[in-house]
Amino acid sequence: MQVAPRCLVSGGAGLIGRALATELCRRGARVLVLDDLSAHGRFPDLPAEVECVQGDVRDRALLTSLCLHERPQWIFHLAATVGVRRVLRDPQAAFDSSIDGLESCLAACAALPTRPRIVFASSSEVYAEQSAPLAEDSALRAERHGRWAYAAAKLECERRLLRASPDSRVVRFFNVVGPGQSAEAGMVLPRFVERARAGMDLELHGRGDAQRTYAHADEVARTLAELAAHPRWHEPVLNIGGRARASARELAECVLRLSGSASRIRMVDPRVELGAQFEEVRTRVPALFRLERMGIAPPSMSLVEIVSDMLRRHAAPKEQACASRA
Ligand code: NAD
Repeated sequence: MQVAPRCLVSGGAGLIGRALATELCRRGARVLVLDDLSAHGRFPDLPAEVECVQGDVRDRALLTSLCLHERPQWIFHLAATVGVRRVLRDPQAAFDSSIDGLESCLAACAALPTRPRIVFASSSEVYAEQSAPLAEDSALRAERHGRWAYAAAKLECERRLLRASPDSRVVRFFNVVGPGQSAEAGMVLPRFVERARAGMDLELHGRGDAQRTYAHADEVARTLAELAAHPRWHEPVLNIGGRARASARELAECVLRLSGSASRIRMVDPRVELGAQFEEVRTRVPALFRLERMGIAPPSMSLVEIVSDMLRRHAAPKEQACASRA
């Protein structure tokens, strides 16, 4: 399938960004990755054709000059502070950083004679809690502070983007996982895998019955590339998530079973680690009708397939020797 030939991926050293850069490149696109390496510390292995620039997406002069040079037709704006732990270190800074990053993309696009389409990575966190599958028009979260600063920033960015650039698009990801994901940020699957390998207890928040779906980053990247190549991507907001549904306990048990680890499962109160105001969302499952109506199959890997791939490939990402212009 053909995709637009020139793409800029902000946050392209991250879990989803690196998979997307690889997938776009595989489909013949020219790909430029911009990442400040704040999350993973180094560029991952990427195809040699992908150009990597170390820099901050909020640096408007840098982003504008990259855009003027590359003339991207698509900007996949994925750069963000990700993970509850990182956000809770300074929620206001995480909020401000998201807004600045988006405004920088909008300013860079405005400097170009032909505006690129921005695809903004939003999150299922923007939805208010409900046990039924969440559709794009489900109720949205109203809280703005502490743990919810991330969701508030995503919502504010969505609104600003669609107001300033109606041709742009928002994708709301539901629990994307894969090799190289940061355990340090609090992401559950790499944490389980790393602790199982080390023979340490796998810690469950509360009773461990919070329900999530999981999507592999490679499949999410394929979905994004198919969307970019789709002749009629009219939906301004789309959910992207997988079908592998499990409670945290089931996920932990799956990791233990497939790894053969002798680690045990232990219940912990997340408020001890993450603060008294921490609230767990009990169920977060996507409705994927809009994606399916476009004829795009959502990520379909099973939990066993996803966990097996993590056990096979998850390791600290290796530094990629690639040219940096910054
Ligand atoms: P990630 O942390 O692996 O990737 C984010 C990348 O952005 C990192 O490489 C980081 O170094 C980079 N970055 C952060 N701030 C930057 C800045 N100011 N300038 C340049 N680069 C910067 O996370 P991910 O899971 O790949 O997430 C990608 C996007 O998808 C994020 O916007 C995230 O909010 C969104 N998202 C992810 C999930 C998920 O389950 N993984 C769910 C919902 C939304």
